Amino acid sequence: MHPRDLSDHVAYEAGRGIEEVARELGRDPSEFVKLASNENPHGPSPAAAVAIREIASDVNSYPKAAHADLTAAIADRFDVDASQVWLANGGDGAIDYLHRATLEPGDDVLVPTPGFAYYGMSARFHHGDVAEYALSRDDDFDQTTAGVLESYDGERVVWLTSPHNPTGSTIPLENVERLAAETDEETLIVVDEAYGEFAETESAVSLIEGRDGFDSRDDVAVLRTFSKAYGLAGIRLGYAIVPGEWGGAYARVNTPFAASELACRAGLAAIDDDEHVERTVETAREAREYMREAIDARVWPSEGNFVLVDVGDASAVAEEMQRRGVIVRDCSSFGLDSCIRITCGTEAETDRAVETLNAVLADGFGDSDPDPESDRDGDAETETGVADA
Ligand SMILES: *Cc1c(COP(=O)(O)O)cnc(C)c1O
Repeated sequence: MHPRDLSDHVAYEAGRGIEEVARELGRDPSEFVKLASNENPHGPSPAAAVAIREIASDVNSYPKAAHADLTAAIADRFDVDASQVWLANGGDGAIDYLHRATLEPGDDVLVPTPGFAYYGMSARFHHGDVAEYALSRDDDFDQTTAGVLESYDGERVVWLTSPHNPTGSTIPLENVERLAAETDEETLIVVDEAYGEFAETESAVSLIEGRDGFDSRDDVAVLRTFSKAYGLAGIRLGYAIVPGEWGGAYARVNTPFAASELACRAGLAAIDDDEHVERTVETAREAREYMREAIDARVWPSEGNFVLVDVGDASAVAEEMQRRGVIVRDCSSFGLDSCIRITCGTEAETDRAVETLNAVLADGFGDSDPDPESDRDGDAETETGVADA
């Protein structure tokens, strides 16, 4: 017996954790800060942590009521019908559901490059093929309709990321609307708003519902997650918001109880914890502005909780920063050999990242001509991997 032909599939390579790095370098975990996976530096919503503890002794029950309550709370927040909210096991789970609901074998999806790796992985799981549109570094990764349409060839799903990971760029709703209008009727435009809370841009839910001067559309969906602004990456909770016309398909694509009782209870508590989200967003805005000012290298403007930095030799710089205790994302795996991505930390963490990066750059680690004297451990772990959260 053999698995099916998986040669097109790639393994998801997550950002490296502090324990893993500390163990490998034979050091104490407390020496490190991790700013590599766009996690919340303030931890989870405290209310969510309480809710998880409170429900711990009741997890023998299936998450029926909590699931319905959370769906209703999200629907209320976005002023949509409950049937339009597709709760899932992480934003990644919601990506799967949208593909399950749309793709026939051999259907294509169109994804950005550089971009979030899971769109393509998920499409392949669902027997779909993957085409790419390029965000060009020369245009500062500007997300233009022309750029997407140039590559568009009738794909069933077009993935947009706003704010975009790893570049931080956004796409105005007018452009999303134009894309939806100019692509086929049976093409779904998904706007991945995993970092939506951090951005000034309005949610594309306006396009689904026909608000703020837009006509309502049945070919746009939105993706959201509790992993970033709500600080709940570890419990795996995300959702799609879909047009009312086909919200009912959820029952046929949903893995039963994939959003767990712990996740739903935590989400219910977190969604009302405005203070935690506001503090998180405020910290990210200050950190990304500060990094743009203080880093001695090109830093792209970002609407997310991270910035992309042009450092020259990304793998050498990321590795040396890690040796000096700051774990950042080497973006070689996104196809950006000269860039690292730094997550917005607490004020102290961000200060440390800036100081460390500037020192590493001053010591010449970003120079493309590697210094033969420097003693760097070989570590090609990102060479074949794909991009993480
Ligand atoms: C983090 C992220 C997601 C979803 O992550 P989950 O942890 O699965 O909710 C989706 N899209 C992008 C671009 C992301 O960065």
